[in-house]
Order: sequence, then C-alpha cells, then structure tokens
Amino acid sequence: MEIFTTKKNLTEYLEQLRKAGKKIGFVPTLGALHQGHLSLLAQSQQYCDVSICSIFVNPTQFNDPKDLEKYPRPIASDIEKLEQAGCDILFNPEVNEMYAANEQWHLDIGELEHLLEGKFRPGHYQGVTQVVFKLFDIVKPDMAFFGQKDYQQFLVIQKMVELLHLPVKLVMCPILREPDGLAMSSRNIHLSVEERRHALVLSKTLNWLKQHFNKSNIASLTNASEVMINAEPGVQLEYFEVVDGDSLHSADQQTKSIVALVAVKVGNTRLIDNIILVD
Ligand code: AMP
Repeated sequence: MEIFTTKKNLTEYLEQLRKAGKKIGFVPTLGALHQGHLSLLAQSQQYCDVSICSIFVNPTQFNDPKDLEKYPRPIASDIEKLEQAGCDILFNPEVNEMYAANEQWHLDIGELEHLLEGKFRPGHYQGVTQVVFKLFDIVKPDMAFFGQKDYQQFLVIQKMVELLHLPVKLVMCPILREPDGLAMSSRNIHLSVEERRHALVLSKTLNWLKQHFNKSNIASLTNASEVMINAEPGVQLEYFEVVDGDSLHSADQQTKSIVALVAVKVGNTRLIDNIILVD
C-alpha cells in the first residue's frame, strides 16, 4: 500500500493513475478502523480499479473538544488492517496539511444539516462538508463510499454533491453489526462491559420497530420505541425519529421511503443507529 501524508505527493500519484484510465474509489474515514470501514473498502474494490482510504480525524466536525481529544488514533494497526484488506493507497495527512492557520469558511447546504444530528451537534455537518469537499478536491474520485450507519451524513454529502455539481458517484453501504446487533463504531471501545450490554437496546428497539412497522400508527410505535429506550438503565435518549428517508421530515401515511434514526448517550459515549423501515 502506498501511504501519503501530503496533498502534493498524493495528487501527483493519482494523476498518473487517472491518465492510465484507472477508475478511483474513495473511502474517507476518521480511522480506528473496524469491519464496517473495511466493508466500504471491499465495495470500492468491487467497483473500482484503485481504492484509496483516508484517515483524518477532522477537528472541524467535532463540536465537543473532549470528544476530539479522546477519539482513538491507532494508526499502526489501521495500516496493518488496510494492508491486509488490499487497500491500494492511504492518505493520512496532519491537520496543518488540510487547513491553513485560522481557516474559517463553511458550505451551507440548507436545512438537512440542521435537523436531528445537526440539532445535537451544532456545526458538525459544516465540518463534515468542509473536509469532504477538500478530500474530494484532492482525490477527485470517480466513486465514494459511505456507510448507512451515518445516514444523515450521507444525505448531507449527497446534497453537497448535487448543489456543487461534483463529478463523483456516491454509494451508501449497509451497516455492519457485531453478532449481538450492536452497530460497529470506533466509539464502541469506550463502552464498559455493562454499558455495551445496555447499548444493545438500540438495535433491539430498531428491529422491534421494523417487525411491527405499520404506516397507520407511526406516532404510537415511535412512542413505544422511546419508552423501550428510556427504560434501559444508563442510556440517555437524545432523539428517536421516524422520518422521510430523503427530507428527514417526520414520516406520515403518505411518506414513501421511511427511516428510523436514534441517538443516545451511554455513559459518556454517544451512539447513533438507524434502520430503513420502508425502502
Ligand atoms: P468514521 O470513521 O466513523 O467517520 O466512518 C467512516 C465511514 O465508515 C463512514 O462512511 C461511516 O458511515 C462508515 N461506517 C462507520 N461504521 C460503520 C458500520 N458499522 N457499517 C458500515 N459502515 C460504517
């Protein structure tokens, strides 16, 4: 695997590949890689000639400085995982390679960035669009792969690509889960054994909702889901919403695609999960 830490060296290398007609697939990450990330890479390898993964803990998308500070950064084992998975290129820049001192700007992609996660993590998606815009500008991928795990993030990036006419095809990849149902996340390592057990209420509730889902009683099913989560010790609910899968507005009987999205805090660890109820 080729490893680059500077934009200049990476763009020169990619330019050669592009000239040779190679189709470039891109998987942006914050690192602390798990099977979920590697499943995105596998998709990229399936569709593209060359796959590039980025590992960059982007400071501008963290609204909580403590969260940024304690975000795991196991770069040596990440490199090993990528090598084993047959990744072609890793881009692993330092913060000052990606941002000039005091660089301050953001894109405004409209209301999507202010709903759900946006309410609880103000400014988060402005950091996400800022860094993904920069990464797309450097890598110029033909295709980019993102997880359904961060459902709203996908919609936000899709909106940015649409508004700026960026020439990249986005692919949403399914959520990978631990055998007991917990959605894989780099943050799961912060959970104690007990907290991890409590965290299972997320996938259990989402699966229960999917099994019982019926467009005619969305309000009562949402309410019952909230009750299930609130009944779990150590779990603090931030939101549980059943929404239109495109607009993220509340779903009703007329809504075509429907998704349930949830965010909680288990101890000090913030977890999100979701399930597609109607495709
Ligand atoms: P992150 O490093 O958390 O920013 O995640 C990088 C990419 O991996 C994002 O597109 C995530 O949606 C995706 N991802 C994270 N967790 C999972 C998972 N459990 N299954 C599939 N994709 C995931």
